[in-house]
Amino acid sequence: MSGAMQDWDLVVTHLIDHAAREHGQREIVTRWADGSETRTGWADIRQDAKKMAQALGALGITKGDRVATLAMNHAHHLVCWYGATGAGAILHTINPRLFEDQLEYIANHAEDRVLLYDAAFRPLVDKMKSRWTTIEHYICLDDGEFRQWIDHQNGDVAWVPVGERDPCMLCYTSGTTGNPKGVLYEHRSTVIHALVALQPAIFDADPQSVMLPVVPMFHAASWGLPWGGAATGIKFVFSAVNDPAVLCDLMRRERVTHSAGVPTVWQAMFHHMDATGDTLPDLRQAIIGGSAAPRFMIERLMRMGVNVAHAWGMTETSPIGTTGAKTYDWDDLTFEQQVDVKQMQGRAPFGVELRTVDLTDMQTVLPRDGVSSGALQVRGPWVIRRYFKAEEDAVNADGWFDTGDVGILHPDGTLQLTDRTKDVIKSGGEWISSVELENAAMGHPAVAEAAALGMPHPRWDERPVLFVVRKQGAQVEAAAIAEFLADKVAKWWLPDAIEFVEDIPHTATGKISKKDLRARFSDYRLSA
Ligand code: ADP
Repeated sequence: MSGAMQDWDLVVTHLIDHAAREHGQREIVTRWADGSETRTGWADIRQDAKKMAQALGALGITKGDRVATLAMNHAHHLVCWYGATGAGAILHTINPRLFEDQLEYIANHAEDRVLLYDAAFRPLVDKMKSRWTTIEHYICLDDGEFRQWIDHQNGDVAWVPVGERDPCMLCYTSGTTGNPKGVLYEHRSTVIHALVALQPAIFDADPQSVMLPVVPMFHAASWGLPWGGAATGIKFVFSAVNDPAVLCDLMRRERVTHSAGVPTVWQAMFHHMDATGDTLPDLRQAIIGGSAAPRFMIERLMRMGVNVAHAWGMTETSPIGTTGAKTYDWDDLTFEQQVDVKQMQGRAPFGVELRTVDLTDMQTVLPRDGVSSGALQVRGPWVIRRYFKAEEDAVNADGWFDTGDVGILHPDGTLQLTDRTKDVIKSGGEWISSVELENAAMGHPAVAEAAALGMPHPRWDERPVLFVVRKQGAQVEAAAIAEFLADKVAKWWLPDAIEFVEDIPHTATGKISKKDLRARFSDYRLSA
């Protein structure tokens, strides 16, 4: 017997149709790079996306073609998301902070046919043009060219029909080792992910929400916000620049209630707020992810009356894997205990299955006992099966994808991420979490940034060395940091050396680049 309900594929064009129909006037505000501001609404976004789909059709773009963007967060970029997918094409959001070799590789590997770019990236585009071999059309997004291009069309077209298992979006990981790898999202995986992400435990979004996503639209599908936002009629406030003064000003004026970004974003906001006395009176939900949120950050936001959703995920998981929601016994916990809960990476929503396996054999499943630490594996409808153009699946026979992360699962399912498999420090057969060391050190008032590396050690295999950037003008010495760490981590975790450096290298997504730091200190030796 077959079911007797309607055919209604889960495709992303349904999201924008819904937003235009039910939340057409809900605003989309953009603060552009030149300081000007515009206001449109979901109905306008859909109308422009229709025109863009038509304009892409006129260029000969058909189902499955790749349409790339090299752009910051703004209304035209949002139009591209729905215009490209509405034309049946696959939206490829390129991270402009990638190195030139990576930029060359991914656009050619994706076989992008069209590139839509911000005027700010014109010098980069001009430089790369001769190296990009498949791009036929270059369209600038914010100097009138985009408007002119789409305004040639009347927008009176149907979306190009696609099925829910067809691909809609392509995102590359920044590739900490080797070439970046493409993750090809489907319409179905994208829509399910978007709907799940709206729930109170994650983005906690509804039509009253005013969201300023600091997470760029080119990073891990902007955590699915442009899709989920349409499903619930969020008011979006976009800023094409990431200056904390601009962000704070916009947040105050537009009464922003929700924001999402990596820890470094919040760090920059705090610096600005401390220097100017600026406040964020309407903010009530802060989503922090992409790397571990330090304790002081969570604590400070909580003291501001903000609910922190500390999220773990990766490009390969669309990207939401877990989020730190309030636990059932939240009201019985002390403030300190509540911060403890939020410092972990939270629990899996429906749709994500997690397990940890032994780091040595990579197959013995570990108990959810709050102590066993192992390789984190994941599966579910919005988790990768195979990288774009790869010959083999990226999952094992049972569908588990190995995340490259190391974590502990607690009895209630809470994930405590401790490291990346390749960064974890192996000392005398035991594991030391580099991330925990770093975060503990970052709590010191004189420390701007800290990174821990496992350095070869004649007796212990590896021992931790902590690299520290002092805050401007701060006068701290190694002994004071060691003393500060003493009651925060196990004694045998304490670094064998603390070295002060001018800066710590970062990846294109703003995370500490252990690979580059390791290369810089490849001659470093510890004595027995
Ligand atoms: P990229 O490597 O290009 O920055 P991803 O966004 O896919 O791309 O990075 C995912 C990785 O970021 C995860 O595998 C994990 O190591 C790290 N990460 C993400 N969120 C968190 C978090 N809340 N805490 C600690 N690490 C995190």
